[in-house]
Amino acid sequence: MHNHLIFKNIIEKKTPASIIYQDETITAFKDIQPKAPVHILIIPNFFIASSNDINKKNKWIIANMFEIAVHIAKKEKISQEGYRIIINCNKNGGQEINYLHMHLLGGKKLKSFF
Ligand code: 5GP
Repeated sequence: MHNHLIFKNIIEKKTPASIIYQDETITAFKDIQPKAPVHILIIPNFFIASSNDINKKNKWIIANMFEIAVHIAKKEKISQEGYRIIINCNKNGGQEINYLHMHLLGGKKLKSFF
């Protein structure tokens, strides 16, 4: 499955997407099928397939992604009422795109999983 190229092409601006934040290490853009009024995907600019591939060398990127997610939540004015950050992994986790990504969801009361 090579669908990770979808996100690579978004970073490189070969595929159109609503990019709302980009720096040397991270890109954030609107999900094409939003599940909430605010639904943003935050990805590293280099390829990591899933959270299974986080290791001692690359774990710093998770901290960067988290910091940018919070920064975006504040900018989108959802931080006070709250939001959810999700990383799906593989089949049982519901990961459809094989490129590590963080979902930032908010703007409404989200249903509990549990
Ligand atoms: P996953 O299920 O892998 O955790 O989440 C993948 C997300 O990527 C889904 O919410 C889906 O709507 C989003 N997505 C898939 N293809 C595209 C695309 O081409 N552009 C954008 N902006 N989002 C996409």
